[in-house]
Amino acid sequence: MMNKKSLEIYVHIPFCARKCAYCDFLSFSGNECVQRDYTEKLIEEIEYQSAYAKEYQVISIFIGGGTPSILKTEDMEAVLNALRTRFDIHPHAEVTMEANPGTVTQEGLLSYRNAGVNRISMGLQSADDKELRYLGRIHTYDAFLKSYQRVRMAGFDNVNVDLISAIPGQTVESWKNTLKKVTMLKPEHISAYSLIIEEGTPFYDRYGDHVEMESHAMTKEERRLLMALPDLPDEDSEREMYYLTQEFLLEQGYERYEISNYTKKGYECRHNIGYWTGMEYLGLGLGASSYMNGCRFHNTTDLNDYRNAHFDQEEGFHQALRQELERLSIEEKMEEYMFLGLRLTEGVSAHGFVSNFGQNIRNVYGQILDRLEQDGLMEFKDGFYRLTSRGIDLSNYVMSQFLQ
Ligand code: SF4
Repeated sequence: MMNKKSLEIYVHIPFCARKCAYCDFLSFSGNECVQRDYTEKLIEEIEYQSAYAKEYQVISIFIGGGTPSILKTEDMEAVLNALRTRFDIHPHAEVTMEANPGTVTQEGLLSYRNAGVNRISMGLQSADDKELRYLGRIHTYDAFLKSYQRVRMAGFDNVNVDLISAIPGQTVESWKNTLKKVTMLKPEHISAYSLIIEEGTPFYDRYGDHVEMESHAMTKEERRLLMALPDLPDEDSEREMYYLTQEFLLEQGYERYEISNYTKKGYECRHNIGYWTGMEYLGLGLGASSYMNGCRFHNTTDLNDYRNAHFDQEEGFHQALRQELERLSIEEKMEEYMFLGLRLTEGVSAHGFVSNFGQNIRNVYGQILDRLEQDGLMEFKDGFYRLTSRGIDLSNYVMSQFLQ
């Protein structure tokens, strides 16, 4: 039998109970009717796109959002069934679903598990209710605990918890408390990012580096509450939180395998590793991005365009599915391979570079690698180029060296 190429699938569910104040993801609230229509269209897309992926075997699926667990259980089952029947999925594929506290039911979790989901990623962000409120999250820490117990009771033994540091009003002490509470629960994986103030969010109005207020659809009262939020932690506290994360999680038996990701042995997120090592991926659903056959493209980000699209094999690719199609040059592929691969603590394999591009990494990046090594930002060990701990601290600078 012909050896199939490996593929990762990302499925986007763009609905959330309410928009968090810092969020710039493609997500919004939508009533059950809109969600049902969306699911039907998504299944049509799954059927349509699968015809173009016959030479692939799917090694991981990530259902993200938004809040996938907000969908009605039968709608999510229908999506998972469509994936299973239409794509050739590896029997040991990692299948992750994002689930937000307050939106998971025991019945739903059991049904996801029966339908093949084997990893749950939970968005907690903070164990402090005040900080959760400032972020605009819909849940409390207690609600998270209940959801977490349900996830365990449903039999999931591979669980990620997402955390955010440098939240308004957060102190080093309260961040440590969040880390303590979460590690006591022993999730297999923890993602810990620093808050980024993204343009176009209410947080940008409050904390962004600009003079004019943007016009979000907010009531006067909502705006008053937004402006009354406490300041962000200062730079020193933010750095302290950053170092504390690494130190504390290592002490608790987690390995750092990527700049912001920590795992118990053997529970690295295979889907994300695939993405960081240049594996091909197909994005399904509103705004989802893909990288296949050397091309990058994304689906429409307009919900109406997506809902009204008519996917017909006879007519070739629908314009809603191949937006900003861009064929990467060999140089662009190499750059991407470097700056994504260097996010991993393992680093970039010199051998892998030759297999991918037929060229020695030193012939392409020798000068840059030497300079970064001399500056103490990079090291070469056991066939891998990797960032030193100083290099991780200055990772934005290091990555930028590989961009033309
Ligand atoms: S739950 Fe996640 S995707 Fe939804 S609004 Fe909040 S941060 Fe954004």
